[in-house]
Amino acid sequence: SNQLSDRVNNMATSATLAMAAKARELREAGKDIIGLSLGEPDFTIPEFVKEAAIKAIEEDYHSYTPVDGYTELKKAVAKKFERDNNLDYSLSQIVVSTGAKQTLANLAQVLLNKGDEVLLPAPYWVSYADISKVAGGVPVEIKSSIETDFKVTPQALEAAITPKTKMMIYSSPCNPSGSVYSREELRALADVLVKHPQIIVVSDEIYEHINFTDDRVSMAQFEDMYSRTVTVNGVSKAYSMTGWRIGYMGGPEYIARACTKMQGQVTSGANCIAQRATIAALENPPSKIQYMVDAFKERRTLILDLLNDIPGFKTNEPEGAFYVFPNVSHYFGKTLNGKKIENASDFALYLLEEANVATVTGEAFGNPECIRISYAASEKDIKEAMKRIKKALA
Ligand code: PLP
Repeated sequence: SNQLSDRVNNMATSATLAMAAKARELREAGKDIIGLSLGEPDFTIPEFVKEAAIKAIEEDYHSYTPVDGYTELKKAVAKKFERDNNLDYSLSQIVVSTGAKQTLANLAQVLLNKGDEVLLPAPYWVSYADISKVAGGVPVEIKSSIETDFKVTPQALEAAITPKTKMMIYSSPCNPSGSVYSREELRALADVLVKHPQIIVVSDEIYEHINFTDDRVSMAQFEDMYSRTVTVNGVSKAYSMTGWRIGYMGGPEYIARACTKMQGQVTSGANCIAQRATIAALENPPSKIQYMVDAFKERRTLILDLLNDIPGFKTNEPEGAFYVFPNVSHYFGKTLNGKKIENASDFALYLLEEANVATVTGEAFGNPECIRISYAASEKDIKEAMKRIKKALA
């Protein structure tokens, strides 16, 4: 027993961060661990972003910023939405936060009442469930499988909706599956959602640029969804700025205002130097970061080739982000090197201990038959990791 609140006691620790911590522990104990558990690009920050941050320090930026972000940054965000997403948001519809994670936490806090249901097309990003729960919401998973490329059908969506449904959160390109919804697929989901106007849709587009298809569609582009959709994005993934902690949203003005009110009491707004650097990131055309996208695409091919050469891994072809989400249920019920594998968590632990490769169990993402492997790693590490996994499973 302790003095902690039920709120935090009932909260799960982020499975990805927990795996990273475990890997770090083993590394400190002298083990040569290859980390494929984190969604973190291994590239350095583009020079033009670094220069903007250095300039901001030299120009003495140091004070609190407006709670919802510098006006110049919000202008850059509005332009970016227009340029890349064909979305028209005025400055009063935009809020800058401490990472897309805080953007999502704000949204849950300002939209959910106790018992409100949050639809999570599964597999989904780990934090959606606990961000919803801590705000009083009840996560409701909508199942999918590798056979439908981990995308949910309109029928499954319809069946999950109840009078208590308040929100739906999804990412496309998806973490953890890498799936990208096409215009037709998204429109089919929208056709269901328009019949239930109480549902606010949160479209998490943080992997927008890491997309190997020609499908680049935002839910808010559909006219009948615009006024009920919040578009979330950030610079962590595309600009390799994970530690800089800048995310942002565009959406209905009343929601933006509520998020500003919320973070005005919690953080007072995002870091001023990182905001200045983000202006430079967003003002430059995405072509400047294409080299990273190209590299991820090559690594996807590499890791799929190597994975498909290991018995018992069932893969599909991810179309974006930097993860593969193989089904490993072939191994459930088997004993490997004296260790019984009952589920994906046992399997991920086995890979960590026997192959010294860190991955994440699919259980945390709402699919207990899969594991998530990040290929935001060097080719050398990917090759070595797959060699070790193959050996540990032989
Ligand atoms: N949304 C998804 C789908 C993610 O994978 C992540 C990071 O892992 C985030 C949001 C959070 O991004 P940020 O670093 O901007 O908080």
